[in-house]
Amino acid sequence: MEESLKQVYVPTVATPGGEKTQLGVFSKEQDAWDVMRAFLGKAGATDVVHGNITVWEIDFVGEEGSFVLSAFDRNNCPVCDELTFWVEGDEERARCYYPRCGAWIEQNAYDPSRWDCGWPAANWNKRAEDYQHAYKGLVAMRGQSNSAGMTNRMSSREAWLGEKDRERRNIQQKKFDSMAEDITE
Ligand SMILES: [Zn+2]
Repeated sequence: MEESLKQVYVPTVATPGGEKTQLGVFSKEQDAWDVMRAFLGKAGATDVVHGNITVWEIDFVGEEGSFVLSAFDRNNCPVCDELTFWVEGDEERARCYYPRCGAWIEQNAYDPSRWDCGWPAANWNKRAEDYQHAYKGLVAMRGQSNSAGMTNRMSSREAWLGEKDRERRNIQQKKFDSMAEDITE
């Protein structure tokens, strides 16, 4: 028997004034995440400061038919200082979408007591005990890079994409990229 659709996933972004733009409606959670991340990758050209993925129940009667699955907030990057550092949820994960930077913070997938952070442009990774320490790790990376003149050696966008990102990208990503382009243009 075919499984019936029970809920849909709606990625939405918003400006500081609260003006909202829906990026689509998806039956698969992964598609909503892909579209949201593709948008964040191009959000530098927009004034969007907030995003979320909301789950909507289908054929639901009443007021509680939706909940926010994850939220995204825009911040200055601790490494490159661009306004391209997106923090997910309640500091559950963070990543800089500035192409020549790509700094990130993430809980370790296998060991929840461990956090990792990195700066792909300089090929540096660190481990930390929590989000705050990981954030400080990124600030420290910037400090070291400034003294070592690393900023001049930041790798190209292609190299950056090739590293941390490729694992997460799937074939559909390209489709979503062009979709996000339509939205941001
Ligand atoms: Zn950055």
